[in-house]
Amino acid sequence: MKIAFIGLGNMGLPMAQNLARAGFAVAGFDLAAGQMDALAAVGGERADSAAAAVAGSDVVITMLPASRHVESTYLGEGGVLDYAAPGTLFIDCSTIAPDAARKVEAAAAARGFAMIDAPVSGGTGGAQAGTLTFMVGGAAADLDRARPLLEKMGRNIFHAGGSGAGQTVKVCNNMLLGILMAGTAEALRLGMANGMAPTVLSEIMAKSSGRNWVLEVYNPCPGVMDSAPSSRGYRGGFGVDLMLKDLGLAVENALSVGASVPVGALVRNLYDLHSKAGNGGLDFGSIFNLLGANSNSNAHA
Ligand code: NAD
Repeated sequence: MKIAFIGLGNMGLPMAQNLARAGFAVAGFDLAAGQMDALAAVGGERADSAAAAVAGSDVVITMLPASRHVESTYLGEGGVLDYAAPGTLFIDCSTIAPDAARKVEAAAAARGFAMIDAPVSGGTGGAQAGTLTFMVGGAAADLDRARPLLEKMGRNIFHAGGSGAGQTVKVCNNMLLGILMAGTAEALRLGMANGMAPTVLSEIMAKSSGRNWVLEVYNPCPGVMDSAPSSRGYRGGFGVDLMLKDLGLAVENALSVGASVPVGALVRNLYDLHSKAGNGGLDFGSIFNLLGANSNSNAHA
């Protein structure tokens, strides 16, 4: 089976590498040429363009930043739908608006192609370890075709419902993640302003009712957890601008369906301020810095 993998960034590269290591023929394309070298280093193939990757492939996987990148890659003249062989299965793993997913899937279906939305959770660590969670929208038969590939990249594969349903779950999940990150950072800052060590605070809260994924594997305070991006200058990981995009998707989606997301909207604004202060490329745990050092000179360090 030949696979085209388009978008070899923080997530796409390790996912494509896992497929190549599992013995699949993977032709990768990214706008940044260096990413293709890293895929070639584990037996993948470099493609000169998205069209070249797609030609002759049985399955096309995309892992791109946002709705507009996915729409421009698939739709219109010169889009990948123009170059795919009959019977090709498309899997979009990017996090995009549910409406955009349905639009691209409808365009694929109109050309006779099967397509599923399969956004992921688990971060770059999960992408490297092949332990991602996939949230899939689309027909069950198409998920069955994709499953042998998804199993090489992830551990939990959920069929959320019809086209766009994977993206709906992903938007809900990431709104909650943004809220948990901001809330955890705020709680750590409060404890530290009382003179507490962040390691002590984290250890106790991780075994108490405030426990959550951020405290368990992604602590935003530098030095608490060696494996978290906070301990390497907030490099790599999940970018502030990607979290800002996802919180924007949640707010937009809430407007379109008439739901109220007051906490999600507040946290979106925090990430917006943080991005505008020049932090868009840092890991999203850097919101810890926005919440600031202690300003009370009478308190302990
Ligand atoms: P990234 O910015 O590291 O990677 C995106 C890659 O796409 C870049 O290498 C870029 O050069 C490439 N690209 C952009 N336009 C392209 C085009 N037209 N053709 C080919 N390549 C193109 O982003 P990422 O962290 O890998 O995230 C990708 C998607 O996965 C996003 O939708 C994000 O929200 C989602 N996601 C990320 C994480 C995470 O922890 N980083 C976790 C879950 C989901």
